[in-house]
Amino acid sequence: MGRKKGINKVNHIPEFFGYKPVGKNNIQTGEVDFYFEEYEAMYYVDYMRMNYDEAARAMGMSKSAFGRLIIKARNKVATAFVESRAINCVVGEIYSDERILECTNCYFKFIANKDSIHVESCPVCGKTKFEDIIKPIVK
Ligand SMILES: [Zn+2]
Repeated sequence: MGRKKGINKVNHIPEFFGYKPVGKNNIQTGEVDFYFEEYEAMYYVDYMRMNYDEAARAMGMSKSAFGRLIIKARNKVATAFVESRAINCVVGEIYSDERILECTNCYFKFIANKDSIHVESCPVCGKTKFEDIIKPIVK
């Protein structure tokens, strides 16, 4: 399987556009761009409590590359907390086993249900037009 360097496998994506600290005006403090692959790294290690080897394997990358990715991800979350910044979720350089759709109305991104051919509506705005932004890998 030929795969471009620096492209990471992501099978879970955030179910939100981002986070904002309560009581802060983020026009002044700014945002932190948090990539889907950084979310995936934290999902495996910090949420699912996998070790680096398992997580690196799940993301199709080397343990050292995974180590750099998880440090970057944690640093971004820490930066958002310490500097009262909002977190903005960004797609990044990814591929997936899943079909990832983007709503053409509100630009929310979500994983299409594998079991149904038709996606009924956007989970955020309820509209019914989507674009495939990530197509699943054909094995
Ligand atoms: Zn939508």
